[in-house]
Amino acid sequence: MMFPKYPLAFLPTPLHFLPNLSQKVPYQVYIKRDDQTGLASGGNKTRKLEFLIQEAINLDFDTIITAGAQQSNHCRQTAAACNKAGLECHLLLNGVEPENFQGNLLLDKILGAHLHFSGEKNKGRCQALENLKQKLINQGKKPYIVPVGGSNLTGALGYVSAVAELKQQMKAQNLDFDYIFFASSSGGTQAGLMIGQYLYNLGGKIMPVMIDKEEEMQVPLNQKIFDIIMAFNHQSQHKIDLLIEDIPLIKGYNTSGYGTVTTHEKEAIKVMAHEEGILLDPVYTGRAFYGMWDMLTRHLLPENSRVLFWHTGGLPALFAYHKELKNI
Ligand SMILES: *Cc1c(COP(=O)(O)O)cnc(C)c1O
Repeated sequence: MMFPKYPLAFLPTPLHFLPNLSQKVPYQVYIKRDDQTGLASGGNKTRKLEFLIQEAINLDFDTIITAGAQQSNHCRQTAAACNKAGLECHLLLNGVEPENFQGNLLLDKILGAHLHFSGEKNKGRCQALENLKQKLINQGKKPYIVPVGGSNLTGALGYVSAVAELKQQMKAQNLDFDYIFFASSSGGTQAGLMIGQYLYNLGGKIMPVMIDKEEEMQVPLNQKIFDIIMAFNHQSQHKIDLLIEDIPLIKGYNTSGYGTVTTHEKEAIKVMAHEEGILLDPVYTGRAFYGMWDMLTRHLLPENSRVLFWHTGGLPALFAYHKELKNI
C-alpha cells in the first residue's frame, strides 16, 4: 500500500534493547523510540500528521483546526507540522486560559499557533469547533478539521506504516516480540497498529494500556478503534475480520482518570529515568509503562518473553506537572 505523506518525522525511530530493566525481570525488554520522531520534541502524533497534513494539502485547504487538552502533545505537534507545511494553525483547547503557560501550551505559543479556549465544559467543544470553523470560513479561509488525537483512518496510516518500519528493524536485528505494550487513548495508534499487524503479518500480542477512564470518554475507545478499522475495510480491498469484543484493551491502570498523576506514574517515570536514562511522560507513557512494569515484576507473562515498549513521546508535559513531580 502506498499513500502520499508529507515528511515530518525522522524515520526509522530507534529500536533498542533495555539492558538494565531486563536484568530486573525474567524478560528481555526492548523499546521503540517514537519519542524521537523529531518534530518540536517528537511523539506519536508526528507519524499521523504526515498523512493528515498531506491530505489537507491535496484537498487544497490552507488552515488546520484541531482540539485537545491544554497539555495536548497532538496540538503541539500539529502546530509545528503546520509551520513546516505553511498552513495556518488553530488550536481549540479545553478550559480557560491559565495565567502561566507551561509544557506543551508554552510550546504551542512559541510555535505561533492561534489559541482558543473552549471553557470548562468539554461538552461545549463540538459547538465551539463548529463556530470557529464558520468564523474562519467567513474570513475567506479553508479550514480542515483534524480530529482529536489525529485519530481517523488517515492519521492511523502513520501507525500502519510504523509496523512496516518495525518489521524491517526486527528482520535486521533478528528479533521477534511476544508482547508489544503502548498507551492507547484516542485510538488512532492502536487502530493503525492493528491494521499494520494484519497487513504485514506482525507476530506477537499487542498490549494497549488504556489511559482514559471509560466514563470520561464520549465514544467508547473500542468503538473508535473498531470504526477506524471498518473504514479501512471499506476503503481498501482488505477485509479484516474483527468483532468489537476482540479489540484488546488493558484496563485497570486508568482508574484515576486522564491527566491525574498518581504514585503509579511517578514510579514508572522514576524507574525508566533511573535505570535507562529515558524520560517518560506523566499522562500517557508513564501510565502505560507502569502497567507493563507491574505485569513484568509480578511475572504475569511467560518467562523469557520478549517484550517491546512503544514509547509515544510526551516529554513537554513533564514540565507542566512540575508540582506533582518535584518529590518524585
Ligand atoms: C496521543 C498520545 C498517546 C495515545 O495515542 P492515541 O493514538 O491517541 O491512542 C500516547 N502517548 C502520547 C505521548 C500521546 O501524546
